[in-house]
Parts: sequence; C-alpha cells; structure tokens
Amino acid sequence: MAVDEAGTSTTDLLGRSLRDLRISVTDRCNFRCRYCMPKEVFGAAYQFLPRAEILTFEEITKVAQVFAALGTRKLRLTGGEPLVRRDLEQLVSALAAIPGIEDIAMTTNGSLLTAAKAQALKTAGLGRVTVSLDSLDDQVFKSMNDVGFPVARVLAAITAAQQTGLTPVKVNMVVKRGINQASIVPMAAHFREAGATLRFIEYMDVGNSNGWQLTDVVSAKEILELVGAQWPLEPAAPTRPGEVARRYRYLDGKGEIGIIASVTQPFCGGCTRARLSAEGRLYTCLFGRHGHDLRRVLRDGSSDSDLAAFVRSIWEQRSDRYSELRTAQTTMSPKVEMSHIGG
Ligand code: SAM
Ligand code: SF4
Ligand code: SF4
Repeated sequence: MAVDEAGTSTTDLLGRSLRDLRISVTDRCNFRCRYCMPKEVFGAAYQFLPRAEILTFEEITKVAQVFAALGTRKLRLTGGEPLVRRDLEQLVSALAAIPGIEDIAMTTNGSLLTAAKAQALKTAGLGRVTVSLDSLDDQVFKSMNDVGFPVARVLAAITAAQQTGLTPVKVNMVVKRGINQASIVPMAAHFREAGATLRFIEYMDVGNSNGWQLTDVVSAKEILELVGAQWPLEPAAPTRPGEVARRYRYLDGKGEIGIIASVTQPFCGGCTRARLSAEGRLYTCLFGRHGHDLRRVLRDGSSDSDLAAFVRSIWEQRSDRYSELRTAQTTMSPKVEMSHIGG
C-alpha cells in the first residue's frame, strides 16, 4: 500500500514509539466475568454494536498496514472474546501478510479454542496465545466467569494451544481480594508443571462498571511473597523493551511467572501500545475516555496516506500515563470499558 510517511518509528510526547497494536475484533463475549462484564450492566437488554458498525476484516487489515508503516511490529487480537467472531483465521492470514509485522498473538478465554480452531489459527499465521483463567477451583472459576463455565475446558484449550505450537502459551489470572487469592499458589503449582507461563494481573479500575476499589487489589508484592514462600524466585530481565509483566524465574528451574502490576508498579514510561476498538476507535491508553474515530476516515473516501497522517498525528500528541497518576479516587471519571478494547 502507499503510505508516504517514512516507515520509521513514530514517537509520542514522552518519546514512546508505536510498537504494539491491540485489536478488539468484537465487543461481545460469552462470559460475564464480574470484574469485566458484570451481568447487571451487560445483561439481556445491553445493546452490543450492530454489525454495520464493526470494522470489517478488510478495514482492520488496512489499519494494521498503516500502523506497520508507522513502526508497529506486534499485533494482539482481543475482544470481548475474539473467538466469537466468525472466521477469525481469515483476518489472521491477512494480518500475517503485512510487511513489518513480526508477531501476532491473541488473548482469549479459551472457551472456543478447540484443537481444530487452534490449528486453523496457527496455519493462518497466529504466533501464540494467552489464555485467561482465574482459578483451578471450579466453583470459584464458575462464579467469576458467571456463566458456569468449567475449568477443565479452559485447561483443554491451553493443552490444544501447546500441542499446536501456539507457544509459549501464557495464562492470565486476574487476582481479586476475597474472591480468588486462595487460587494463587495452586495455579502456580499447576502451571510450573504444565509448561505455561502464569501471569498474575492486579485487578484494575478499567471501565466504570466493575465497582473497583483499591482494597480489592492483591498487590504484586503480596503475590510474589505467596509464591516465593513455596518456590523461591529471582527477578529475570525483560525479554523486550516495554514488556508489561515483570518476570520472576523459579530457582529450581521450573520456568517463570509474570506479574502485571499496573496498580502498584505502573509502567507507563515504557507503554508503546495503541488499542483499536471493534467499531474502529483508536485509544492511546487503556484508561482512555475518548477514542479517535478511524472508521470515519476508513469509510469517507480518504486515502491510506490520510489515514496514516491521522494516526501519526494522534500518536505524536499522546501524553497518557494514567496508572502513574492514579489515585484511589479514579473511579470518578468515565472511562472506556475493558470488554470494549480488550485489555
Ligand atoms: N475475552 C478475552 C479474555 O478474557 O482473555 C480477551 C479480552 S479480556 C478483556 C483481556 C484480559 O483482560 C483478560 O486476561 C482479562 O482477565 C483481563 N481483565 C479484564 N478485566 C480486568 C480488570 N478489571 N483488571 C485486570 N484485568 C482485567
Ligand atoms: Fe469476556 Fe474476557 Fe471480559 Fe471475561 S475478561 S468478560 S472473558 S472479555
Ligand atoms: Fe499505557 Fe495508559 Fe496503562 Fe499507562 S495507564 S501503561 S499509558 S495504557
């Protein structure tokens, strides 16, 4: 495609480049995790986006091409639940063909990741997956996903991903005080043996509907102490600049864990991520209030160069560092929902 801009890295006001793009392919999900899409808000009456408002695969591919030309190297597909969007492998194969894209990953709840789907995605060019799982205790997990989905089927998805070579498989566990902190050590024990990297995520104040309070957060420090007391750990160097998870290696050689401490140890300084919502709004921060409307530019006859210039100007004006400025009162201002831009 024709993009006039030199294909070198675009930087924001704090010198952060535009390395990563998270693409939400749908605002829908078949789970109702209480910390993300609580049923009281996302119930039967909730109006999801109509099909015509959602970017087509061609539109998403065009956006990704523009980002690649501006320096983006990594794409992550997310949602809602990305696998509720039909034929996702078709999008993956179009994205995999974009020059400059080095890594395509997906975050999924695993519910629809059968062995056949994993193989189709792998064949299309998906590199690896992160599967979310908050507990090994069926009762705890079923009440957290709030649709009664069993642990065993998510574990089967993780195995399918590993067997297909969508590796290294990572497992995301959001930790919420009083809900699943007793699952921290059993999860660590399981995934030390199962060969997937477990990443603990501090419960975040994303969106406006999960009723977040600072006291619900189990800190990275507490998590580290709990796991380290069972199996001693040492810090490991980041694998790449801007990595959000802090890595810790088990001293006995059984792999590593990651901790995403966006509340207690914010990492805005290295944040090189942009987020595209399913209806084509671009967010420069997970806690953004307003997205920039790329769909309008995609659909009003503008050229690819116009789109590139628009994206570049948005990124060049970026100064977001919400987590570094966060206080316990952050729930006051309206923010985009997590299920809208996919984490
Ligand atoms: N549905 C997919 C899934 O659950 O993996 C992808 C989208 S989901 C929004 C992406 C990640 O965000 C998941 O790992 C989920 O656990 C995490 N997440 C959602 N709400 C969160 C919150 N309030 N705090 C921290 N992580 C959250
Ligand atoms: Fe769905 Fe993922 Fe949100 Fe859970 S965290 S409700 S699986 S989008
Ligand atoms: Fe990036 Fe915003 Fe998160 Fe800071 S708060 S790390 S700027 S997404």
